[in-house]
Amino acid sequence: MEKIKMQNPIVEMDGDEMTRILWKCIKDELIYPFVELNTEYYDLGLPNRDATNDTVTVDAANAIKKWHVGVKCATITPNAKRVEEYKLHKMWKSPNGTIRSILDGTVFRTPILIDCISPAVRNWKKPITIARHAYGDIYKAVEYVVPGAGKAELVFTDAYGVETYRSTVHEFAGPGVIMGQHNTEKSIASFAKSCFEFALSENKDLWFAAKDTISKEYDGRFREVMNGIFESEYKAKFESAGIKYFYTLIDDAVARVMRSEGGFIWACKNYDGDVMSDMLSAAFGSLAMMTSVLVSPDGNYEFEAAHGTITRHYYRHLKGEVTSSNPVAMIFAWAGALSKRGELDGNKELLEFGEKLKAATLETINSGIMTGDLAALCDDKTVSGVNYNEFLAAIREKL
Ligand code: NAP
Ligand code: MG
Repeated sequence: MEKIKMQNPIVEMDGDEMTRILWKCIKDELIYPFVELNTEYYDLGLPNRDATNDTVTVDAANAIKKWHVGVKCATITPNAKRVEEYKLHKMWKSPNGTIRSILDGTVFRTPILIDCISPAVRNWKKPITIARHAYGDIYKAVEYVVPGAGKAELVFTDAYGVETYRSTVHEFAGPGVIMGQHNTEKSIASFAKSCFEFALSENKDLWFAAKDTISKEYDGRFREVMNGIFESEYKAKFESAGIKYFYTLIDDAVARVMRSEGGFIWACKNYDGDVMSDMLSAAFGSLAMMTSVLVSPDGNYEFEAAHGTITRHYYRHLKGEVTSSNPVAMIFAWAGALSKRGELDGNKELLEFGEKLKAATLETINSGIMTGDLAALCDDKTVSGVNYNEFLAAIREKL
């Protein structure tokens, strides 16, 4: 069989622990036999981040800006224990945080559905993708525990030092609490564009919800910025793609989500996204079946699995055990990156290969061959789990 050729590279970011082991196996079993893989390789494994003073992470992010498509393995975000374990020079920052801020991107998380695991919500037939606006609001708030009677005010002084706004938050008769939140128009606009771009790329409806009946200025501004960008830049594109942008109140959105059959993208403000993404991932099954795509407003894509480096399995692997770690979200990350590369380069074979890789993975699971974590969740209690080598070999067979 002739291998599929690639015109442009994918930015490949290797990672840590068990996912680094799986990374190599996925390439060896499922990609190299079929594709003349062309990647620009960056080793984001913790030892190399330490050796390069973490410049490798910045270089990788800039490479995604150049090539527009990246795929990333899970990486350790060091804490005090990791600094000791890896004898690090510094407690390096989260690579995902660094990459996200360089690309100014939004993270979209989508569950992978399989026949034998029913979502906790009966009527959900298709995945629901969550986009979380990951800047500001309560995550960058200033808070104060008010000790006793007094007045709290909101004051704005402009860049010339002129006080242009002052209003009373509350006249306290006794102790209480206050908080000051902010967001920036630039950040909201980037979020909006990433959401509209991703909806077009996935060909799915986009929902956005806030509480602008109560918060007329703050949440009202979110609604206006989203609507404004939609009307001026995306309305025609959405119409020709046959998809919709839909705004509603957050409480109405929650009720509609529960009654829906899924199959759309739900853009959330920071706090809503934090809470709802955990609810959705639990209701759809497992963290090991959740993909994650970082999309920048100017159309750069970084694919990864939502889970971490599966440390507990790695320690068992080091003792010689063949674990039943689940590589599905990582396979989908590779498949997504290959398809996106194919789409951008007009390379139909590569685009289709990504789709076939996903289909082969799902068929394998639906035929009853799966890793232990899925077997445990499966409706059919007679299914038993296989190790990751057996699972990858079964997918290759289908492919
Ligand atoms: P984790 O790696 O997601 O694993 C937590 C547990 O979830 C595992 O012990 C395992 O449970 C289960 N699990 C997760 N993914 C699985 C898979 N693919 N197959 C089977 N089981 C899976 O989270 P963590 O242990 O909290 O974090 C480990 C490291 O990952 C940390 O150093 C953290 O900094 C890093 N991290 C990186 C990213 C990223 O790069 N995107 C994200 C999160 C965390 P059982 O042990 O019960 O089988
Ligand atoms: Mg959370």
